[in-house]
Amino acid sequence: MTIKVLETKTVSRIAAGEVVERPASVVKELVENALDAGATQITVEVKGGGISLIRITDNGTGIPDSETELAFERHATSKISSLQDLQNLSSLGFRGEALPSIAAVAQVQMITCARGEDVGTYLSLDDGKVVRHDSQARSSGTTITVNNLFRKIPARLKFLKSESAEGGRVADIVSQYALAYPEVRFTLNVDGKTPLRSPGSGKLMDSVIAVYGLEIAQNMLEVRNQNTDWNSADDLIQVTGLVGLPKIARSNRDRISFFVNLRWVNNRMLSFAVEEAYHGLLMQGEHPVCVINIRISPNQVDVNVHPAKTEIKFQDERAVFGAVQKAVRQTLVQSSPVPRVDEIKSRFGTPAAPFAAIHPPVIPQKAGPASTANINEQAVTPLISLPLLRVLGQLARNYIVAEGPDGLYLIDQHAAHERIQFEKIKEQWESRKIEVQTLLEPATFEVEPGRASLMSSHLGELAELGFGIEIFGDRTYLVRSIPALLRDKNWGETLRELLDNSAGNWTDNLIVTLACHGAIRAGQVLNDSEMRELIKQLEQTALPHSCPHGRPTMIHMTLQQLEKEFGRTQ
Ligand code: ADP
Ligand code: MG
Repeated sequence: MTIKVLETKTVSRIAAGEVVERPASVVKELVENALDAGATQITVEVKGGGISLIRITDNGTGIPDSETELAFERHATSKISSLQDLQNLSSLGFRGEALPSIAAVAQVQMITCARGEDVGTYLSLDDGKVVRHDSQARSSGTTITVNNLFRKIPARLKFLKSESAEGGRVADIVSQYALAYPEVRFTLNVDGKTPLRSPGSGKLMDSVIAVYGLEIAQNMLEVRNQNTDWNSADDLIQVTGLVGLPKIARSNRDRISFFVNLRWVNNRMLSFAVEEAYHGLLMQGEHPVCVINIRISPNQVDVNVHPAKTEIKFQDERAVFGAVQKAVRQTLVQSSPVPRVDEIKSRFGTPAAPFAAIHPPVIPQKAGPASTANINEQAVTPLISLPLLRVLGQLARNYIVAEGPDGLYLIDQHAAHERIQFEKIKEQWESRKIEVQTLLEPATFEVEPGRASLMSSHLGELAELGFGIEIFGDRTYLVRSIPALLRDKNWGETLRELLDNSAGNWTDNLIVTLACHGAIRAGQVLNDSEMRELIKQLEQTALPHSCPHGRPTMIHMTLQQLEKEFGRTQ
């Protein structure tokens, strides 16, 4: 191909791709504009995951009629006028790219009225071009409606996830801003439901209650600015916010939020600083819940790293790292109810030599029509049988020590029970015989705004496994029954973990999670008959050597190895 300059329309769409990746990025840009306009009330409405409709309404300053068309031109901004201003940026926007980028990939309408103007403006754009410009009555503020996002860019549409997943991301973004701006009243409306409403009281705790619910909020500690002793104003790094007690830790990093000068940012160094502060307080694979606000002189940061503006560079990374880590650590240490679990080492550590983990052998798969019958058989017939084991005792409240004809076995009680439960649940599910426990009184269960549509779309799979759940409110559910296996367990935690790790097949995830949560924990004292029963049940499983996560359930030391270690043989 010969070299030629691309058409303006093509260039706009390419550039738009950097700012507008998915519905949530449109919402982020428009919410930031509303915040920059000083809005105290922001309503976000989405339909069809934001692909069919996004509408953001604010009560900010509005745009004067004479500037409305200019706002949709590339690099047109009211927020900076020179490179110098970037040094002391106090607004969220500055690139003048969001409105033109959005208009390049969707149909956009705007109704706005500037403070002090009698009548507002109606503007409609197609393919980035203004097709109507009229006057329209409106109180001061702006409403922007974005329809049919990416309709003309099939490659982008294809790359999007399901409507409920995209809607979930929108809810996550709005939740983050509700946390960063407790003084602003946010309302989120998703397909006619209202999963989030923040009160705008100005108190961070109220926003945390609105976003994460009361249970989490009650377990959050306030981080007070700890660094007032710094002398020069330039060096001042203020760290405030809320951090969760270790007991509400999560299995992923979704509940770790950072705001630098009220801008929501992703930054690995900051996550690392917080996780360092929790050192010794969390188990491996657990991550804290926190909302951290960092105030720093604007000339100490560069936000112009990426068009999406969620990445940030600090002039002095080490100082920021130190300030965050220290503030969070002090908060955690000062709060007396924090349990110290320094002694609890990883449960999943690698076995020390000369013990060797028994890796599950590869099961030969038969090809052809016979394989179906084979799979059914697996549930009843052990494929790799265990030798008969005699229980000797329990080690560290975690391992069962047993003797077999060919040496010593150490069995991880949790992993082993997980395997047993997994196969049991799977079999019950396949034969539609899940044991269900009806609750004496139905319990309400609230999910975070971003999880509501996910939850609602999987009630069928949940029901098949014993969770009788009905929709009760926009993000509240009525739980009538639970899997019997979770009778004495915290079933709410099981549901939350499922919602947190929702990638992949729901039924499979559900069975693995149920098996894990229904299983005996590490640290639980077992008596002889309980241990014998556990081993007996493990012997009957199809794959006794590994847990459903793929970790070994046992390690084995042969008599030969023992003799070698004691120098009895060469
Ligand atoms: P930027 O935010 O980087 O300036 P945008 O393309 O997002 O660029 O917006 C262009 C301009 O339009 C802004 O600088 C601002 O003057 C105006 N604007 C956009 N949205 C709003 C709003 N909700 N309220 C008031 N003014 C707005
Ligand atoms: Mg903007």
